Amino acid sequence: MGGVTLDVAVARRWLELLAAGLIERADELTRLDAAIGDADHGTNMARGFRAVREKALGVEQPDVAALLKQTGMALIGTVGGAAGPLYGTLFLRMSTALAGSDGLALADLRDALRAGVQGVADRGKARAGDKTMLDALLPAVQALDQAVAAGEDASAALRAAAGAAERGMAATVPMQARRGRASYLGERSVGHQDPGATSSALLVRTLADAFGAAAAPPP
Ligand code: ADP
Ligand code: MG
Repeated sequence: MGGVTLDVAVARRWLELLAAGLIERADELTRLDAAIGDADHGTNMARGFRAVREKALGVEQPDVAALLKQTGMALIGTVGGAAGPLYGTLFLRMSTALAGSDGLALADLRDALRAGVQGVADRGKARAGDKTMLDALLPAVQALDQAVAAGEDASAALRAAAGAAERGMAATVPMQARRGRASYLGERSVGHQDPGATSSALLVRTLADAFGAAAAPPP
């Protein structure tokens, strides 16, 4: 299994791309949340990731675990609503899973992402098919597992994970929400894409992009 390992530069690039993407797409995320929630998902994520820029990216970080920990804390500290603590948990659990590892390989990243996603499931008590961010995140972990088993390099494996997350996001449209605010709508939640699954698909896509940039030959 070759390819680039996860170092602090790649992790920073990921979070910078994610922050930029979420801020750029805040209106779209808020519109999705207006249909089945309370029209604040884009605002929440933009506020959270502005804090990540300042408190995690704006500070020198000794390693990936520290960067992800500060990211999780910044989100928990600034984002009200369901998604802030859930994304905070994702990054904190990833950080714990990576702490102490040296020379992070793709399998370490896969393990960390799996631990983070499990943290989201535990904290939110949601499962696949509940029409939440997990419907993007769980397929990504599964695709990453398969790619690691097939010996793919990090860049290709993460592209596969991003594709799986995007298909999972699209698959939330016909689902009826069973968790979160959208569940209050019952059947009226059907026919709309879940906002959290949309931000989660971006999370996985930007991770793939961060590795793609690192793996690209120098100009
Ligand atoms: P709130 O619902 O508190 O307004 P946001 O609008 O920021 O928070 O986030 C809504 C998103 O959070 C939903 O689209 C869904 O993906 C996710 N979500 C809500 N509750 C849960 C849960 N229990 N488990 C997993 N994800 C959840
Ligand atoms: Mg909301």
